[in-house]
Amino acid sequence: MRVLICDAIAKEAVDGLKGLGIEVVENTSVEKEELAGIIADFDGVIIRSRTKIREDLIDIAAGSVKFIIRAGVGLDNIAVEYAREKGIEVINTPEASTNGVAELAVGHMFALLRHIPQATASMKKGEWPKKKLKGNELGSCTVGIIGLGRIGRRTAELVGSLGSKVLGYDPYVKEVQGMNIKIAELDELLTCSDIVSLHLPHTDETHYLIGEEELGKMKNSAYLVNCARGGVIDEDALYKALKNEDIRGAALDVFEEEPPTDLKLMKLDNFICTPHLGAQAVESSNRVGEEVVKKVASKL
Ligand code: NAD
Repeated sequence: MRVLICDAIAKEAVDGLKGLGIEVVENTSVEKEELAGIIADFDGVIIRSRTKIREDLIDIAAGSVKFIIRAGVGLDNIAVEYAREKGIEVINTPEASTNGVAELAVGHMFALLRHIPQATASMKKGEWPKKKLKGNELGSCTVGIIGLGRIGRRTAELVGSLGSKVLGYDPYVKEVQGMNIKIAELDELLTCSDIVSLHLPHTDETHYLIGEEELGKMKNSAYLVNCARGGVIDEDALYKALKNEDIRGAALDVFEEEPPTDLKLMKLDNFICTPHLGAQAVESSNRVGEEVVKKVASKL
């Protein structure tokens, strides 16, 4: 079996694949044109979120490639249905990065509430402000979780353990057993939360779920966190809401365009960000790697 790795995965996973007797080619900077020229030489392709496999590449891969493994959760960079129609199995590792993403979302909540990035930037300029930046305790906040799947629930569990009251909205989840989450309608969640955290996929249905109207319903003192997918928030509307201080701040790990070319959000003091780091914890990557090896082994 020959497998092409297009995006970096844990070294242990690469070794694990080789240990199975698989011929592994690592080409983690491969771009679309080069990939089109080589993809049909492989039985399997492993990607993360960087590499996009759309219909045109699937047409070339069909008949040779038997599986595409998305090391991670989101399948929005693969034409999944088309691949399946063409006989290519699409596999992901949905559980492996749940905790890492949830912890990053909570990290952003702490950073927003206690102004950690702004305080760091100020001290690095040699400042020591006379009037200290006042913040809020996460445990005293109401946190609204949109999307009550794996990561949303884990985030709810983490903030719940600090004492936060948790509201949850998910049109496909009517109750969450064994967890202290009050199921709410979207409007109630937006108007009552001190922090709104997004944990849903980007689909036609969820595109711009958070736009001008929804941001307008949030408290002026509220924060927005998105560690799910760009495109769920209308970034122009977010820019206006932050600039006009309609909400107090926002943290994004994911963007409509990655890397973003429109940098106006970055210029705002009440905006903080990370470059799609949700799953980038060593423990998450190791778990993803272990899952990848197991899934490839099952194809031998
Ligand atoms: P999941 O499938 O377990 O949960 C998603 C939830 O969203 C489901 O319960 C679904 O019912 C809900 N949902 C669907 N449409 C909705 C809507 N209109 N409103 C509210 N909820 C809706 O997925 P997950 O593993 O929890 O992942 C959540 C998100 O995090 C995905 O977008 C995934 O791509 C993203 N993610 C980001 C990173 C990162 O690096 N930042 C890493 C992994 C996953």
